[in-house]
Amino acid sequence: MSGHMTDFGYATHEVRNQPPERVGFNACTTDPALGAAVQAFGAGWARERLDEAGALVGSAQVQALARDANRFTPELQTHDRFGRRIDWVRFHPAWHELMGMVRRAGLHALGWTETRPGAHVARAALAYLWAQGEAGVGCPAVMTFASIAALRHAPEILAEYEAKILSPAYDPRPLPPAQKQALGVAMAMTEKQGGSDLRQTETVAEPVAGGYQLTGHKWFFSVPTSDLFLTLARTRGGISCFLAQGWRDDGSRNFLQLQRLKDKCGNRSNASSEVEFRGLEARLVGEEGRGIATLLDMAHLTRIECALGSAGLIRQAVAEAMHHARHRRAFQRRLIEQPLMRNVLADLVLESEAALWLSMRAAAALDASARDEKERSLSRILAPVAKYWVCKRAPVVAAEALECLGGNGYVEEHVLARLYRDAPLNGLWEGSGNVICLDVLRALQRVPEAEPLLRQELAGLHPRIDGWLRQMPAATEESARALTEWLALGITAALLCRHAPAPLAEAFVQTRLAGGGRHFGALPGEMPFEGILGRFFGEAA
Ligand SMILES: Cc1cc2nc3c(=O)[nH]c(=O)nc-3n(C[C@H](O)[C@H](O)[C@H](O)COP(=O)(O)OP(=O)(O)OC[C@H]3O[C@@H](n4cnc5c(N)ncnc54)[C@H](O)[C@@H]3O)c2cc1C
Repeated sequence: MSGHMTDFGYATHEVRNQPPERVGFNACTTDPALGAAVQAFGAGWARERLDEAGALVGSAQVQALARDANRFTPELQTHDRFGRRIDWVRFHPAWHELMGMVRRAGLHALGWTETRPGAHVARAALAYLWAQGEAGVGCPAVMTFASIAALRHAPEILAEYEAKILSPAYDPRPLPPAQKQALGVAMAMTEKQGGSDLRQTETVAEPVAGGYQLTGHKWFFSVPTSDLFLTLARTRGGISCFLAQGWRDDGSRNFLQLQRLKDKCGNRSNASSEVEFRGLEARLVGEEGRGIATLLDMAHLTRIECALGSAGLIRQAVAEAMHHARHRRAFQRRLIEQPLMRNVLADLVLESEAALWLSMRAAAALDASARDEKERSLSRILAPVAKYWVCKRAPVVAAEALECLGGNGYVEEHVLARLYRDAPLNGLWEGSGNVICLDVLRALQRVPEAEPLLRQELAGLHPRIDGWLRQMPAATEESARALTEWLALGITAALLCRHAPAPLAEAFVQTRLAGGGRHFGALPGEMPFEGILGRFFGEAA
């Protein structure tokens, strides 16, 4: 008897020239760029914790859970079997297991529970790593994390719930907060007639003893099984922010009805619902009439998270492409030895490192905001710039990385298909592309010191960056995308010149600031391909 057991049963051929499964790796220790960013931005102390997360993310267990959570999607249960409304969602056990893991890792809490400088950078690195495990659970984790920023506008409410919001436990039971070990927070803002323009909010809040009653609908409400959620409604004072419990203190469901779950393109492990509020009991957060402003601090955090999530997705997609190309042979050579494939992969590697540095720089500015006024000003602009640019790169990188796997990439059993479907999401929620670029314009106007600070940070590093700084697009609505792109590329080039190996930084500057190819794989032939490819996993490709 000959051949491997796995080939047994095929009369016509042996299975060969397929890459081994990419599991059992450490997503942190095999990522030299991440290590450098964590060190550069003051979170070197978190290295052990990040290494642990990296090992878990790359484990066969997490990769299998991620597959299951996305294949066996959540199911709406409006009623129990006796006909009573329960307005519940049944998630696959894999989702719950992953949720337990990210809570234990502190993805929802680290920036608040740890007071050392660098805490937000360490959490950002966790977000980037976990985006390579399963992206769906990132949504409840970041909403829970960011809710603290909104709830600071209502200190007495925050004091009531904070310890359980930040608890490392995971408790999915449908019970009122007092009976739970840990709480998750969601948000329901978007209505049918407008998600970007929240001034169109139609839900109405009537004052009653002890709070308000809300009547209206929300068109998108993700993780509707959350214990608490922030929402917007109109009062006499204008659009205001509210916090509602999913279950009232007596154990009954708060006055809401889940209508449908969205049948989404990606992000399938997660449940996004449509909901009716029918006298929902809620408490005011912040000043009446200042609801949208109250949410801005929270949006600042979630926008940075979108960039980090997309940087993680880009890393995972390129890692899969590199892995495949190192093992698959065509025309007598491994794919990674084929000159044109080397060009494509090197270009993707540039993109991955660029996405990491830009999003981590935004996290670093957030981290330093509390102690450094300049960083606070820079943070205001870095967050939307990183959110726009990194999120916009994710779908094109995912598509190219998928193609590196050939037909396998297009098949659902391979993770690339999932990444491809997930890739556009970070670009469109928490402010779609145009809305974010208009926010960049607003930031330049409202924080006039940000632009000179940025210019200082970028100047004198490379003649091409200095030239780039003289080509600023107009600060008009029509040019807001061009302006944001100009900022993103200039900032990234400077970051790479400061922190990345010289061949990689030089390749980025030469191709991104000086009219490189319009698609991946058109790097000039004299690029240092070996050095760029070797940087990705920290070893020769
Ligand atoms: C999977 C998923 C989950 C979601 N979960 C939630 C959730 O939990 N809670 C929640 O509240 N929402 C959620 N959303 C909704 C999301 O936040 C909104 O879809 C998003 O804010 C955009 O709003 P909209 O769909 O109404 O689009 P619109 O506001 O109609 O925007 C449509 C397009 O017009 C552009 N645009 C808008 N204004 C301008 C302008 N002034 N100039 C130029 N262009 C403009 C936008 O950039 C966008 O491209 C979710 C969405 C998805 C896809």
